[in-house]
Amino acid sequence: MSRVGVLALQGDVREHLRILESLGADAVEVKHPEQVEDIDGLIIPGGESTTIGKMAVRFGLLEPLRSAVRGGMPVYGTCAGMILLADAVTEGDQPLVGSLDVVVRRNAFGRQNESFEADLDVEGLDEFFRAVFIRAPWIEKVGSEVDVLATVEDHPVMVRQRNILATSFHPELTRDGRIHQMLLDMIGGK
Ligand code: GLN
Repeated sequence: MSRVGVLALQGDVREHLRILESLGADAVEVKHPEQVEDIDGLIIPGGESTTIGKMAVRFGLLEPLRSAVRGGMPVYGTCAGMILLADAVTEGDQPLVGSLDVVVRRNAFGRQNESFEADLDVEGLDEFFRAVFIRAPWIEKVGSEVDVLATVEDHPVMVRQRNILATSFHPELTRDGRIHQMLLDMIGGK
């Protein structure tokens, strides 16, 4: 059974644990640096990326996370988690895990659209995925190694680069486990 960590510094941790368990994974909260060595894969949840980044620095987690992701551990970032995995953000300065060769714009969909839902056509899935966006980022630039798996109005909102999967929406808020299953398949080497 795969042991999948959910970074539990801030944000919607419990929903991810629940959905991972429903898919048969051994899901654990990750709060301490030494726990990073005991997991086969990781989810960085949504929340507030500046807060999660600062707490990761304070808890001594940023460097262990960076080396695990660089070393090829499968990782999935949702919303704020996607921002943390990005190599760069369009504005400001905040601690990032990095490795995903993209530039992300935070809160990109604007005030009128602070949160919305959309039926997304996701590469690799047979049917639409009902995606919930909350103060969501979009990806403004993608590197040559990055596959775009879904877009909204031509803006990439789901990407994969080798061991890194990222969505600007929140699949843990629906009961659809198909994107979490993609992470489990990456861990299983499928
Ligand atoms: N707006 C948040 C940020 O920039 C992300 C929102 C979310 O994770 N739902 O960090």
